[in-house]
Amino acid sequence: MMNVALAYTGGTLDRAANRRSDELWLSAGLRDPSGVLVPVWRERILVANGDRPRLATLAGQQAHRVRELADEIVFLGMEEGDRPWFACDLSFHDEDRLTPLLDGCAFRDLNRVVTHLGAGEGAVVAYARSLLHWHRRHRFCGACGTRTALEARGHLRICADPGCLSENFPRTDPVVIMLVTRVDPDSGAPVCLLARQRQWIPGLVSALAGFVEPGETLEDAVRREVLEEAGLRVDVVRYEASQPWPFPASLMLGFRAEAGDSPLTFDRDELEDAQWFRREDVARIRTLGLRLPFRGTIARALIDGWLAEGDTDGG
Ligand SMILES: [Zn+2]
Repeated sequence: MMNVALAYTGGTLDRAANRRSDELWLSAGLRDPSGVLVPVWRERILVANGDRPRLATLAGQQAHRVRELADEIVFLGMEEGDRPWFACDLSFHDEDRLTPLLDGCAFRDLNRVVTHLGAGEGAVVAYARSLLHWHRRHRFCGACGTRTALEARGHLRICADPGCLSENFPRTDPVVIMLVTRVDPDSGAPVCLLARQRQWIPGLVSALAGFVEPGETLEDAVRREVLEEAGLRVDVVRYEASQPWPFPASLMLGFRAEAGDSPLTFDRDELEDAQWFRREDVARIRTLGLRLPFRGTIARALIDGWLAEGDTDGG
């Protein structure tokens, strides 16, 4: 589909997974004055204010002082072979304590600044935020309830009970997001399904989405969600692209799904509204009092990809 830049993608760090257990090497990396630290505070990221907000990272003495406040440091990877990147969670501290260390930068909601972040910055932030979120939620062993300890510089937690020693690896939650299309049985025009949830900002309409359940293929999940939410049976399901979605730790898997002629009967518990739109209506959606997801989301890329097909096939 989609020859577009998706937010939270384009990361260039080498994750250097084979070095995560090399404590000697990692300790040297932590002392490296060129090393970079990405702090996260209560799901917020550090932003430098300027003409446009940009990701603020810490280095040198400043990184050292902030690192001292963190219980745990996670290793993100290497930049251009020799510059180590780390991240830490400062959520256990009050903002007042942190502010003097941050040199005029401030913690901001990621979704408010993501459109301003440079290429690759969003990818680093998504990585750090999702990984640190996982740590915050896995401080105790799911098998026996004992505390867990961070290992492999943040890419593993092990239960501290010597009789258990359960290993937990960071998890990503897969979400399918699908643009359902069909040929309108009355007019013969291609149409796509856009829906809105009650809690969304006013006027926003988007593709359907839902979590993949245990024991499901991605294609099963697409078919189930479309049937549950819109009462539609879809036949052809085609994978398009994926996008890390750090709210808190998902992976969006984007699909196109082709529906048959069955009537649209959406679930009012899940959706406030769902309608079929022709291409010309999607192209002038603002005039209908509606809006699409922001550029950079996979939802928007799916919609734009479908619109662009109209330019080439005359539909
Ligand atoms: Zn345990």
